[in-house]
Amino acid sequence: MTHSKSYTPESAMAIVAHPDDIEFGCAGTLARWAKAGARVSYVLCTSGDVGIRVEGMTKEKAMEIREAEQRAAAEVAGAKEVVFLREPDGLLQATLELRKKLVREIRRFRPEVVIVGDPTMVWAGDRYINHPDHRAAALAAVDAIFPAAGQPNLFEELAAEGLTAHKPRKVYVEVWGNSVDTYVSIDETIEVKIAALLAHQSQVKEDIAPRVKEWAAETAKGKEMQYAEAYRVVTLESDEDWEKWKGVVAGRQ
Ligand SMILES: [Zn+2]
Repeated sequence: MTHSKSYTPESAMAIVAHPDDIEFGCAGTLARWAKAGARVSYVLCTSGDVGIRVEGMTKEKAMEIREAEQRAAAEVAGAKEVVFLREPDGLLQATLELRKKLVREIRRFRPEVVIVGDPTMVWAGDRYINHPDHRAAALAAVDAIFPAAGQPNLFEELAAEGLTAHKPRKVYVEVWGNSVDTYVSIDETIEVKIAALLAHQSQVKEDIAPRVKEWAAETAKGKEMQYAEAYRVVTLESDEDWEKWKGVVAGRQ
């Protein structure tokens, strides 16, 4: 069981389906890393344009509202950059086209760590079925990270945009239950996580705060921390190789 209490990447990117997914999931971790000096980027596959159930609401208006909320949430957590790919909310698919768009973002930002959802998660507790967009975003993200982003001759047309291959060092997968192997303490950023979540005014109300604390405390149970976010961590590059190459894979075997 790894406790990555002290590990801070130089840069991190989160790839998700909707505005608020990062805040419900991994914003405490990203805020912690941003606070320690990491560059942080959010990539949103959709802009949540069917996610506001108010009479008279249009997709265009909802997109505008939710992108503004997401930008505010990113600012609260210290993320410097938010990218919206504007795929259709509710209809997201892990196409090759989406994979290429994500490869472009990875090669551009060159993150040390990428945080993604669990593409295999369908059932989540007994009161929720995981949203198909979450699965699609997670699958597209995983397939973009490895091996695509690191293969110079795959999507080689991106070189015309000045983008060369990049292999992230680690992937943090947001998993539940027995698959968890890493707990990140968010003791110092739980309030930031809540504030970021509350930036999504069209989605949540103040009463979410105690529940977020309950969930994070439940996750941290038995660990040397009060609040946690949990992951399965896949290390694609050894410490030694990372120091040597920093994700630059061109010319390597
Ligand atoms: Zn979502």
